[in-house]
Amino acid sequence: MSAQADDYICLEIALSGPCMAFPLPSPMRRALDLAAAAAEAGEVPVGAVVTKGDAIVATSGNAMRTTADPTAHAEIVALRTAAAALGTWRLDECDLWVTLEPCAMCAGAVGLARIRRLYWAADDPKGGAVAHGPRLYEHATCHHRPEVYSGIGAEEAARQLRAFFGGRR
Ligand code: ZN
Repeated sequence: MSAQADDYICLEIALSGPCMAFPLPSPMRRALDLAAAAAEAGEVPVGAVVTKGDAIVATSGNAMRTTADPTAHAEIVALRTAAAALGTWRLDECDLWVTLEPCAMCAGAVGLARIRRLYWAADDPKGGAVAHGPRLYEHATCHHRPEVYSGIGAEEAARQLRAFFGGRR
């Protein structure tokens, strides 16, 4: 078992407890379902949802494999879909919900899109770029920093990732 899988197990243990009894916000529920569907398609299980107010504007799972596009992370596809649906690149009244801490590419795109709030489920100590690694939003050259909330649905997201990577070995 790789170090990455071990990290997810530790995360799950750390997060198991009475706090997990709270119902998930519906956009994160949807994102977790999208992640599960992505895994069934052979993609790394990550799902993303863009909301504006109470409305879901765009959804996507990871689609790198099915679209042969290395940039087709769930967040990027969801941001593109939301921008197209709303007819503007500027998503400053929108929030992004994603099942895994965004990577550097996606965290950058979230900033460029002026996303208001970023919610994610599981931390990604190896590839995350918000709370880990480059911590993109802490740089002076970052011109838009969303409000950030993490750990929402983390146990289920970590379990999906662990099952996916475990099942691949
Ligand atoms: Zn990404």
